[in-house]
Amino acid sequence: MTQKKTRLCRTTGLRGVKGKTEKPHPRILMIYTGGTIGMIENPDTGSLEPFDFEHLLENVPKLKLLDLDIESVEFEHPIDSSSMNPEHWKQIARVIEENYVKYDGFVVLHGTDTMAYTASALSFMLENLAKPVIITGSQLPIGDVRTDGEENLITALQIAGAKDAQGHPRVREVAIVFEDFLLRGNRSTKHSSDNFAAFSSNNFPPLAEIGLGIHYNKSEAPLDNSKSKFKVQYGMDTNVMYIDLFPGIQEGVVRHLFSTPGIKGIVMKTFGAGNGPNDPWFIQTLHEAVERGIVVVNISQCMNGSVMPELYSAGREISRSGVVSGRDMTSEAAITKLMHLFGCGYTAEEVAEMMKSSICGEMTAEDSLSY
Ligand code: ASP
Repeated sequence: MTQKKTRLCRTTGLRGVKGKTEKPHPRILMIYTGGTIGMIENPDTGSLEPFDFEHLLENVPKLKLLDLDIESVEFEHPIDSSSMNPEHWKQIARVIEENYVKYDGFVVLHGTDTMAYTASALSFMLENLAKPVIITGSQLPIGDVRTDGEENLITALQIAGAKDAQGHPRVREVAIVFEDFLLRGNRSTKHSSDNFAAFSSNNFPPLAEIGLGIHYNKSEAPLDNSKSKFKVQYGMDTNVMYIDLFPGIQEGVVRHLFSTPGIKGIVMKTFGAGNGPNDPWFIQTLHEAVERGIVVVNISQCMNGSVMPELYSAGREISRSGVVSGRDMTSEAAITKLMHLFGCGYTAEEVAEMMKSSICGEMTAEDSLSY
């Protein structure tokens, strides 16, 4: 991460207007990591490639009109987010930690492909977050005449600077701004590689709807971490994996995957309400994996709804083998939560237990699910 900071808008701090003293403008730190929003076409290959931050800024002169004091830092080499990994998450988290006191909010510019993973990971890493960390990007580069990037960026900055009547930040969590919605980061999924409305939060209502105004959802109690001290948990253990079931999946393949050397946690993507084949070898394989100390989490392949382990015997058998229900978590939240919990040094038993309850709004409480 280049620590060189670019100041985009400068306010003079306390300003006198007609004898009154105005409050200083909210201070926002923008963190540029790459993604389509800042890409340009390589004339030789015709493919889009990450480009530097100055180019992005040149395309949004309106930034200077915002009532915000904006500064920015950027990745030394901006990346396509398909190359994003936990080391990059740590870099982003470190910038936020080092600048936490100085700024009112943070905007992370990021590619859309793995944005939901970064949002989920940061939600776990940034413990007791009491300021907005708003992630956004775009489907078309900012230099494109039809770009969605300008609107997403400006809205993200406005939300990062928004305060309630008491002067507290409106948003106190990691969230994604995209097209018409502000979504809880660890509830979000990229569902379209084409639509401007690329993200959805299928098991949790939007934190705000973006239209003529920004309409915050007042029926959902905001996450409130303001009483505990902000702290970054940097540990991220990548000894985790997905296993995606499909009809006809072979015993040898399943046994092989569950025997992957060094693996500590597996997110198993199951059918419907958390079901899988009722072949004895399948249940036996799950039993053996759990007995070996692997934490196996059951997540539905459905975009909407929850794992309901007792609804069908096909699900009950999975649950009785010691597999943990991930309820209505996204797969992005489940895999990054495993990385985070193992990275914090918890034992397999502790991780299994902590996967069952929400850390920062990533899953619905069991007694609120209607089954
Ligand atoms: N491949 C790009 C990325 O994730 C896609 C995008 O930004 O929309 O960086």
